[in-house]
Amino acid sequence: MRLSTGLLCYCLALLLLCPGSVWADTPLILDERSSRLELNAHLQYFSGPLLAEDVHSAFLLPDSAYTQHSSEMPNFGFTQARYWFRTQLLQPGSDENWLLEVRYPPLDHVDVYLLDMNGEVLQAAHGGDRRPFASRGIRNRHFTVLLPMPLNEPVWLYIRVQTDGSLQLPAVLTRPEQFVADSRHEQYVLGLYYGILLSLLLYNLLSYVSIRDNSYLYYIFYIGSYALFQMTLNGLAFEHLWPDAPAWNNRALPFLICLSMFALMLLTRTFLRTGSSASSMDRLLKFTALALVLTALGSLFMPYNPAIRLASAVGVIGPIVVFCVGANSLLRGYRQARFFLLAFSVLLVGMAMYALKTFHLLPGNSITENGLQIGSALQMILLAFALADRMRLLKEANVKIEQEARQRLELRVAERTRELNTALAELEGKNQLLSELNTIDGLTGARNRAYQDQLLATEWARAYRHKRPVSVLMVDIDHFKAINDNHGHQCGDAALKQVAQIIQTYLKRSADVLCRYGGEEFMVILPETDAEGACALAESIRQALAVAEIVTAKRQLRLTVSIGVASCVPETADTQAIAALIGAADGALYAAKAGGRNQVRSAYSGAADTADC
Ligand code: GH3
Ligand code: MG
Ligand code: MG
Repeated sequence: MRLSTGLLCYCLALLLLCPGSVWADTPLILDERSSRLELNAHLQYFSGPLLAEDVHSAFLLPDSAYTQHSSEMPNFGFTQARYWFRTQLLQPGSDENWLLEVRYPPLDHVDVYLLDMNGEVLQAAHGGDRRPFASRGIRNRHFTVLLPMPLNEPVWLYIRVQTDGSLQLPAVLTRPEQFVADSRHEQYVLGLYYGILLSLLLYNLLSYVSIRDNSYLYYIFYIGSYALFQMTLNGLAFEHLWPDAPAWNNRALPFLICLSMFALMLLTRTFLRTGSSASSMDRLLKFTALALVLTALGSLFMPYNPAIRLASAVGVIGPIVVFCVGANSLLRGYRQARFFLLAFSVLLVGMAMYALKTFHLLPGNSITENGLQIGSALQMILLAFALADRMRLLKEANVKIEQEARQRLELRVAERTRELNTALAELEGKNQLLSELNTIDGLTGARNRAYQDQLLATEWARAYRHKRPVSVLMVDIDHFKAINDNHGHQCGDAALKQVAQIIQTYLKRSADVLCRYGGEEFMVILPETDAEGACALAESIRQALAVAEIVTAKRQLRLTVSIGVASCVPETADTQAIAALIGAADGALYAAKAGGRNQVRSAYSGAADTADC
């Protein structure tokens, strides 16, 4: 193997510093009882510029050039330095083969050498995700190398790692049968995880087809991109999806982290409806989404190391932003945010563990290693539940809105009906008033002739039914023409009004009604009143008017009236008979006039005879 001059000097310098050094370490014994060994604590390492093919130079380096590693999994964070790891192995009992598994797929270049104690290469294998998948001897998502172990002879295992991303070396030695058993278990766990994601994806895809709510679409986008990111991280994507595209496989990790975070921002915006309520939160989400798109595109072109650092940072910041927006929504009373927030709390815990491990702040172990898977599976399930819960709450809100709208409508209808009824009642009152006014004589305020005719017909029929008497008074002002002639018509009008008022004061029963018969003649209708009662009332009216002072605008007057009284108990329902009653009253009035005026005369049952009352 060719050594460059620089490397030679480097090696010589190290040799001079530590002259005569020998392999002081005791080898790792691969005895029959153990079937799986983690190399962590058994590894020594050094970081130097040796190329992959410089294994002999690494072999020749003195012990002091190597640092003994602790019991934790080697994790140097984001570094571009090349690391050589080594350990000495001895299998005393048999010459069975062992397998070396490098359980971190994103490493770019991994070179494995098995050397005998003289530095002769027994086995060499080259892996890492910068080489096509098909170049691997054992087709497994983890770079796996068969180690032909000689019987009872110590050998050196050298592993060189060079990567642009996080440099970790979870290296494990397993017996082939143990490897098969472990692989089966791992496939089962991975199948379970991706099965959960796939069924959630398909179920929510169908939900979207049925419900057409964009939250479902973004959720599917999120699950899809997140699942791809996970598959890339644990080597499945390279093994199954793009085995011949190592360059893309290397780029895929930062790109997919940004893409899934971008999907997450879209999901959060739609799910929490930040666009309509919390505008500052919405701006934050929009800004983050834009930054993520730019980072995703940039990660395809920029050098891998800054890209993966940036992506790892946004992979942590994204869920924190979403968590803050969710918390803000919940504080504002948006109930849908409850399970959303819970989902992201679970994810954040898982992510935080993984990120801290990546940045070398937490030790690498099965929980921190699988933090993302555990957290994300729980998060996806909780998110699906949150979506269903959101739908339920939206439905409830819709029902409430419908109910409120119906109640408002009912209230409005009731209010309108009330207003309508009031208007109708008012109208009825007005109509009554109008029809009342239609029955009133405009000058005197007494009932008019039309009303008089109608009332007489009614009272006649009632009196006939009950065989009760009904009487009428025909009142005529004496020499009224002379009042008009001497004092003017206005004076005559005023006199007519006052005569009506005075007569009205004598009508105590509610059934007694004063009507203006025509000109200066009045008729008083007296139901349930016999001739004697009618005469008495007529006489009272006559006397009252005879002494009353009629006050007009110009002077005071005195006047008298003549009254004809007629009374009968109707013997026929025929209203024609009313004319006879009126005629009798009229006849009695003429008799009173003829008798010298200012007197009351009564007629007997419509006969021509009259008498003084
Ligand atoms: P008698 O004692 O015979 O009843 O004499 P008279 O003058 O009262 O009777 P006559 O029937 O001759 O006159 C009635 C007068 O009443 C005629 C008319 O000018 C007057 N008159 C009728 N209606 C009105 C009215 O509304 N206002 C006024 N100022 N006068 C009226
Ligand atoms: Mg007259
Ligand atoms: Mg007269």
